[in-house]
Amino acid sequence: MSQDNCIFCKIASGQLPSTKIYEDDEFVAFNDINPAAPVHVLVVPCKHIETLSHCTESDSPLLGRMVGLVGCLAKDLGVSYTGGDTGFRTVINTGPGGGQEVYHIHAHLWPASARGAEWGNAAIFIGILLSNEMLGEQNQ
Ligand code: AMP
Ligand code: ZN
Repeated sequence: MSQDNCIFCKIASGQLPSTKIYEDDEFVAFNDINPAAPVHVLVVPCKHIETLSHCTESDSPLLGRMVGLVGCLAKDLGVSYTGGDTGFRTVINTGPGGGQEVYHIHAHLWPASARGAEWGNAAIFIGILLSNEMLGEQNQ
């Protein structure tokens, strides 16, 4: 995707709306429009780089600051690792094989509890299926 019709370039420059939680000269961070967890933030460099595979060595300082910013935002959002089973996940999808949908590099930030939430939703879904089946049997 070219820089001109890139949604994350447009969000970074303010041409498209987003729920920004952080902004400086180099990065923006905003809530994912389709959150996988109650806290799901995307940390995006303002520089348009398509994928991690397009990065060169000269991008390493930027990538380092991006990961550092994820750690700082996790602290601000209250999902940092503070012992026990606390903590968060940082994901950078790369290419179609890596599940990347938006071709402007970004890091996802989820609390560790997101996995628990996914299992919780799956359990509710299975529960609904079973109860529908049982109701069907009763009505026969
Ligand atoms: P990825 O699969 O790593 O490329 O993830 C792209 C993410 O961007 C997905 O989780 C989408 O829900 C999210 N996304 C797409 N469009 C927007 C948008 N306009 N504002 C916020 N998040 C978005
Ligand atoms: Zn872009």
